[in-house]
Amino acid sequence: MSKAAPAPPNPYDTAILKLEIVAQKMKLDPDIVELLKHPQHTLEVAIPVRMDNGHVRVFQGFRVQHNDALGPYKGGIRYHPDLTLDEVRALAFWMTMKCAVLGLPYGGGKGGVICNPKEMSVGEIERMTRRFAKELVGFIGPLRDIPAPDVYTSGREMAWIFDEFSKASGHAVPAVITGKPISIGGSLGRTEATSRGLTITVREAAKRLNLDLKKATCAVQGYGNVGYYSALLQSQLGTKIVAVSDSQGGIHNPAGLDPVKVMKHKEKTETVVGYPGSKKISNNELLELDVDILIPAALENQILGTNAARVKARIVAEGANGPTTPEADEVLYKNGKLVIPDILANAGGVTVSYFEWLQNLRRESWTEAEVNQRLEEKMVAALKDVYDTHLREKVHMRTAAYIVALSRIAEAIKVRGM
Ligand code: NAD
Repeated sequence: MSKAAPAPPNPYDTAILKLEIVAQKMKLDPDIVELLKHPQHTLEVAIPVRMDNGHVRVFQGFRVQHNDALGPYKGGIRYHPDLTLDEVRALAFWMTMKCAVLGLPYGGGKGGVICNPKEMSVGEIERMTRRFAKELVGFIGPLRDIPAPDVYTSGREMAWIFDEFSKASGHAVPAVITGKPISIGGSLGRTEATSRGLTITVREAAKRLNLDLKKATCAVQGYGNVGYYSALLQSQLGTKIVAVSDSQGGIHNPAGLDPVKVMKHKEKTETVVGYPGSKKISNNELLELDVDILIPAALENQILGTNAARVKARIVAEGANGPTTPEADEVLYKNGKLVIPDILANAGGVTVSYFEWLQNLRRESWTEAEVNQRLEEKMVAALKDVYDTHLREKVHMRTAAYIVALSRIAEAIKVRGM
């Protein structure tokens, strides 16, 4: 009888384990740890949808509101066939941490529907989204819980949710959701915001490490929204992008790749592989290249205990959520690598979501330059807070980011007497 593969760790257990380890290190009040282990609210709904074949199919949807000590819950809505409630709970917990690291007046939330939008028609996705939105109406709100796009959702779904919430309210309520199309109150600069924030953290880290970005090289795993714009913005700082990849594999050219031309090639052929003048490499080889900066911007669990010792990059900036395991974190730290953790490196997206919400509440519309300037200030301050904590407490950057976040959340819980 063949042995079954070990089940992947429960993501919520992993999140709580990390909370407990950091809490012990910073001697956090055990009552606060106990409070943070339990999401404040969990909504689970059945979503009946009339499919194109005339039959009704019932989808399962969730919204988890983890903690609102610092402000209303904030977090995306994900559509994925493998989604689980524990994954949504873990993502909601990480949103609480991410918003606190950036100093945003938000708590953490997350939602999703178990479905495969790639196998559904636009009409089916719309009917499912609108029905889900009707279930969410009493649970979300501009001062209560503000959803946003996540995996396999975009401005299109946000516009439908905005529309349903507004119909139920009797007037338009743009601030109930972010990531909207510009025509209904979305913010300029949102598309590149995650990568722009990431590039700012890399630039600030490089200054502290005396790394000259004009002489540096960079490899990017994943060439979607985060990977592409990160490669583009990093190259605009003078850094040479020598390798990029997608789900089909990677490409390498020590002389440098032009991010825009690589994207044009990907749009034509659906992959970066085969880009003229480059050598094909695997995704694993990309992670181990002799570069100064590595940006994992695809999936979770890429840098593991087994390959972390072969990572040569001086800076690892996590565009993706959860690309590095806790075991790998320790190896990288011992080897003198600086990891800019996901809850800091990819927080530019939620930060510009916050700006979108502010513009909606104030009935304002900011220029792209104004959005980018405010993002710059937030990211520079957050990197400084985390980097200083990393030096002062002699811990790796992820633990430092948790210390910064948990201190702010704990203080809010205490003064509110929650
Ligand atoms: P995306 O779907 O636009 O791009 C994902 C890219 O990863 C694609 O190029 C895909 O080909 C590639 N990919 C898929 N499987 C791969 C594999 N096995 N090896 C290498 N590449 C693979 O997604 P995105 O919005 O760029 O998000 C990427 C990551 O960043 C996710 O972890 C997401 O949660 C995280 N993130 C995104 C944002 C945002 O604003 N988009 C914000 C915070 C975090």
